[in-house]
Parts: sequence; C-alpha cells; structure tokens
Amino acid sequence: MYIHEVNIETSSFCNAECSICPHKSMKRRQGFMEENLWRKILDDCSKTDVRNIHYHLNGEPLMNPQLPQIIRYGLSKNPNSNHGFFTNGALLGKRATEFFPNSLVDRIVISFDGGTKETYESHRVGLKFEETIQSINEFIKIRDKYHFIKPKIIVLMVLTKENQHTQEAFQNMWKNILKNGVDEVHLSYPMNWAGAVQVNEPDLPFGRPELCPYLYNFVFILHTGEAVKCCMDIEGKEVVGNAREQSVEEIFNGARYQELRKLYFNKKWDEMPMCSKCSFRK
Ligand code: SF4
Repeated sequence: MYIHEVNIETSSFCNAECSICPHKSMKRRQGFMEENLWRKILDDCSKTDVRNIHYHLNGEPLMNPQLPQIIRYGLSKNPNSNHGFFTNGALLGKRATEFFPNSLVDRIVISFDGGTKETYESHRVGLKFEETIQSINEFIKIRDKYHFIKPKIIVLMVLTKENQHTQEAFQNMWKNILKNGVDEVHLSYPMNWAGAVQVNEPDLPFGRPELCPYLYNFVFILHTGEAVKCCMDIEGKEVVGNAREQSVEEIFNGARYQELRKLYFNKKWDEMPMCSKCSFRK
C-alpha cells in the first residue's frame, strides 16, 4: 500500500453553512493548525512517498491567514508531490495575490453545487452566486495575466435531487462563460457523512468505488494533530493516530488503521459504526 494523499486540516473554520455538509453542526473545537505542527507534518511527508498533499479537511482553508506560507513550505519540502486544496471559492479572489508566484499548488478544486443562483444559494448557504463567480474570475485573471499554468482550476458540482436539473446549465456556464479560465468541470455524488447529513440522492450517471479508498490510501489529520479514519469523521470520533507524536508513515501503518482495514474488507459493519451508515460504501 502507498499513501495516495495526505489531507491536512489547516483550518476547521468555515464561512458557509452548506446544506450538504455537517460542518454547521460540528461540535469539536475549531481552529487553525499551529505552525510547529504543519511544519512537522510536511517534514514527515518528505520522508515517505506521498503522491498528493491537500491543505484542507473539514473547513475552508482560505480562512487560514498562513495558508500561502504553509503551501510554500510544503512545496519546498515535497517537490515531487502534487499539491492542492478544495475550497468554496468565496475568498479566492481576495487572497489571490498572496499565492503568486511562490505558493502555487497544482490544483484548486472549487465546490460549486448548482447551475443557477437559486440552486447554488440553497446548497452553499451563506454564499452569493454572483460574488463567488467574481471571486473565482479574479483569481483566474491574475493567473492568466502572468501566464502561470498553475494552479489548474477544477469546478465541482455535487449532484442532489434538488440541483440535478441544473447539471447542464452548470456545465455550460463553466465551459462557455469561463472557458478561458476553468480547466475542468466535474460532477460528483453526494455523501451522507456517515449518517451526519440527510441527502436526497438522485439517480447517478456514474457508480461508486468498490472499495473505500479513504481507508486504504489516505491519511487525514485534524488541526489538533489527531489523525482520523476518514474525512467523514467530522467530530474526530475514530482516531487512528496523532501527528504530534507519530510520523505520517507511522499513522498510515498503525495498528488501529490496519485493524479497521481488515474489518472493512471482511464487511464487519457492526464493528464499524460510521462505515455502516456511510453512503460512500457500496
Ligand atoms: S465507508 Fe467508512 S472509511 Fe469510507 S468514507 Fe465511509 S465512513 Fe469513511
């Protein structure tokens, strides 16, 4: 097994209250990751084979004032990994200049769940359709003005029963209106966050993976340093290690993680309360 991705929770604060995300009712303490911790994690990554480093987990990474500095350090320590983060995009324009030219990740994935103002604002509660588009455009303008080829911008729509009818409008909007700036437009399936959120799943035009990749190829580190089983563990209930005391590789190969993988493989759902409720599982 190899580490496909390490997800670092640089911020567990968020500036939205999305209908399809359990963050709005999260009870664990919120915060930004401390500098000595993110430095240690990124040093750890450099000592093992990590394909992708993502600077987000449960929260909006662009709320962390240190994000460009964290990325700069991550890039310097891990030049052979791919770097990126997921964001709702609302703060991208305001913070764009801080990232050029030395904090450029390979890709930024923008969660934008609707092809119309109405569906977008009912899913991304607290954000404004036109303002987010403008914010994304501002970032792209700066990137293109200086002829940077990075980061690649990917806009993602999670399909629900309520927004599925705007799927075509969403694809056309990003492909046509912003065709010079957005590099890829993706559709994805909704998740129920291991039972924490009720989602109305539509008939999906694609399947789900056979084996949950999160358990086998990822490492997820909360801003406090605790490593959790997967990104669905919004409250940090299923801890598999601690990045303050263990290296990323030790967490990934740790006894608890190995045990959970065996349980999952043998379909012992009664011993895996989160997985038993998770819509990500086939
Ligand atoms: S199936 Fe289990 S490990 Fe995979 S995402 Fe769901 S809760 Fe997490």
